[in-house]
Amino acid sequence: MKEKNVMYADKIVAIDAAASELDTPPEVFAPVFRYLRRNGFRYITYHAGEDFYHIVSGMRAVYEAITFLCMNNGDRIGHATALGLDISQWKNSVKGKILMRCGDRLDDLLFIYHLISETHEESLSMVLPFVVEKINSLAVSIYGDYYSVSELVQAWKARLICPFHLEVLSSGHESAMYVVDDEELKSASVLSDRIKKLLLAYNSRECRRRRNDIIEVDVPDILNIDQLHVLQLLVLRIMHEKEIVIETLPTSNVRISSHLSMDTYQLWNWIKWEDEGHSIPPIVLGTDDPGIFCTNIYNEYANLYCNLTSRCKMTHVDAMKYVEKLYRNSVVYQFKKN
Ligand SMILES: [Zn+2]
Repeated sequence: MKEKNVMYADKIVAIDAAASELDTPPEVFAPVFRYLRRNGFRYITYHAGEDFYHIVSGMRAVYEAITFLCMNNGDRIGHATALGLDISQWKNSVKGKILMRCGDRLDDLLFIYHLISETHEESLSMVLPFVVEKINSLAVSIYGDYYSVSELVQAWKARLICPFHLEVLSSGHESAMYVVDDEELKSASVLSDRIKKLLLAYNSRECRRRRNDIIEVDVPDILNIDQLHVLQLLVLRIMHEKEIVIETLPTSNVRISSHLSMDTYQLWNWIKWEDEGHSIPPIVLGTDDPGIFCTNIYNEYANLYCNLTSRCKMTHVDAMKYVEKLYRNSVVYQFKKN
């Protein structure tokens, strides 16, 4: 489009992705987003943390989208529901047990380990030995070989690298279907042989099959309810520091996502947690897809205002102040042309 339909390409202000999260993690789109970014598309908005079996997988999806797509300040995460749900309510909704793929379970534990070690979160440090023990047993059953937790975390973080380029690097194989991208090849070439081997194993058919084995996980298990909430706050803090914006989409979330009504909507929690002194990233209001959800941005603001005054028992003045704050965010964080 940039070469042949400049008239239309010029109107594109950002690239969005809204996929089935349960089958398509952020790593799938990461190379394409980075390619677009290198070629003049400044902003990204990525829908993540909306659909998940385990709430930690939802938090991880947000974190992976931010890191794998190399998001910058002003980029957005759509939904981020997993970062705002009340953990006790979520636990009750899954009735204390979850069936999930063991590969996802392993990735969730690597994410927990990485987050606690990176942020030096003291209130969670006591769970690390249990996390490590579980990682080791799951990793051996999936990869059939011993890898240290640090290697497993490195390989998880390196999933942003396009698997095709990884293969080009390992076997010299080139397919006519793909153009080799030097930038991608460069990031793949700095990996150690062990990490490359682990990544190739991760992408292999055999390993995929083993990762898809279904296991039962108790809720809560290694991390209790309060500790899961601390995890939410850690990711929110990272987003706040990086100035990654949350695009919250109420009508969509009530129609097709985690909520039966606006009663449990995560925005009320974000407002509360911010009042309690926690770092919450900038929030903007959105429609998700006005055609599908039969809404528009005016309707979303009106709905929010009514809920703030009724459900949240805010005074009209305070509710209007909050609406104004969201509106101001939408002006500040508007996707602008380069
Ligand atoms: Zn969406």
